[in-house]
Amino acid sequence: MKKVSKIYEMSLYELNQMAKWVAAILPVKVRYGKDFFNRAAWLEKSQWWSRERLIEYQNERLRRLIIHAYNNVPYYHSLFKEKGIRPSDIHTLHDLPKIPLLTKEVLRKKLRDLVASNVSKKDLIYLTTSGTTGQPVGFYREKKSEYSDGDPFWWRRYQWGGCGLVSRRAALTSWTIQPKRNGTRRIFSYNPFRRLLILSTYDLSRKNIAQYAHALRKYKPEFISGFPSALEVMVKYFAEAGIPRPVNPKNIFTQSEEIYPWQRKRIREYFGCEIYDWYGMEERVVCASECEEHSGHHIFAEHSIVEFIKDGKWVSGEEGEIIATDLENYGMPMIRYQTGDIGQAVLEKCRCGRGLPLMKLIGGRERSFAVTKEGGYIPVSIVDIPKATEHVEQFQFVQKERGTLILKVVRKEGFCDKDVGLIRKNLQEKFGEMIAVRLEFVEDIARTGRGKLPLLVQHLRIDEDLV
Ligand SMILES: [Zn+2]
Repeated sequence: MKKVSKIYEMSLYELNQMAKWVAAILPVKVRYGKDFFNRAAWLEKSQWWSRERLIEYQNERLRRLIIHAYNNVPYYHSLFKEKGIRPSDIHTLHDLPKIPLLTKEVLRKKLRDLVASNVSKKDLIYLTTSGTTGQPVGFYREKKSEYSDGDPFWWRRYQWGGCGLVSRRAALTSWTIQPKRNGTRRIFSYNPFRRLLILSTYDLSRKNIAQYAHALRKYKPEFISGFPSALEVMVKYFAEAGIPRPVNPKNIFTQSEEIYPWQRKRIREYFGCEIYDWYGMEERVVCASECEEHSGHHIFAEHSIVEFIKDGKWVSGEEGEIIATDLENYGMPMIRYQTGDIGQAVLEKCRCGRGLPLMKLIGGRERSFAVTKEGGYIPVSIVDIPKATEHVEQFQFVQKERGTLILKVVRKEGFCDKDVGLIRKNLQEKFGEMIAVRLEFVEDIARTGRGKLPLLVQHLRIDEDLV
């Protein structure tokens, strides 16, 4: 009876933890299932296919998707009718430009019509984009094609960095950890089932930093993944506190935010290992990862078709907006989705020998562009504040009107007028007269609800008129 009451007294968190320890006994084969291993084995092979074979595969998948969309998705059925497109007109990816772009505006207005009528609602999950400001855009995905440990595409990315299914990992991302019963926050939590140490992105501070080091020492992750901004802050606090490297990860995986050069440098130098960056988005129309050569992001071509567009036309080897077609999500097909991100196809073949095409992100994500008075776009990532002065703790741009930016700065000890001059000089060199910047000193810069720390909080709507 005593035992029963003890279990009864356990919090939901503790019960959950116990269940994970029990589940962790399950062999990997049982845990991930046959489908996962079959698909993972197939993806292991397809990454080495020739470009031609990959395109052939994409064409075949595209034809299937188009027929499905025409027959089962009200939005596409009426769009094709209206534009006089027959499904047989879309034979290869070269026919894609016949189909109008799928904008975020369409998602906002016609969400219901975009859902396939032959897919059960219970197999779908509703998600929203992680726009840092304004209204997030909602969409549906099939549950089976969600980002998760059971997703072979996601796992291929880890494999490239040498991380296996049973490797010990730590993550510093948007996960929240249930607080203790007395309301105090937990800085970390260990999931034995996934062999994953979850570190809280929301509680990173100088005061707490020793606890992060303690957690890493205790669980000894072989790999660390996370938001670049959070990893950067963590290593910065470690270095400042004189904490020697608490763990020696084999590699680090970054995602969800653009990784800026100073972040890559700082994280690499502290941990002494390589960084494998991932380019993707909540909508998951593009999946792309760096390989061991780090010469760009390999597009997972089995998953999506990526186009680069400038002035309404395909561009090759020059920058354009990233337009993507998801070949996997039949629940809500996204054909020629306007991501709002800017990138460029890399025409050279990667030295790794994989057939998957390479791309480079240019100036980051859609929200990282500032708008000049004349309506031009400038990526704010060209400004390198950490290079200009060491006395800045954190910084972030905010844009509310064309031609003007606010630069929020959290000052470090020792910050003086000289630093203001250095920042001004850097801004002037990069922005010239195109953008006026107002400095604003603040105590802290808050992360978004999802734990991200965007370089630019863009209040102007720029996503629809980039093309
Ligand atoms: Zn490569």
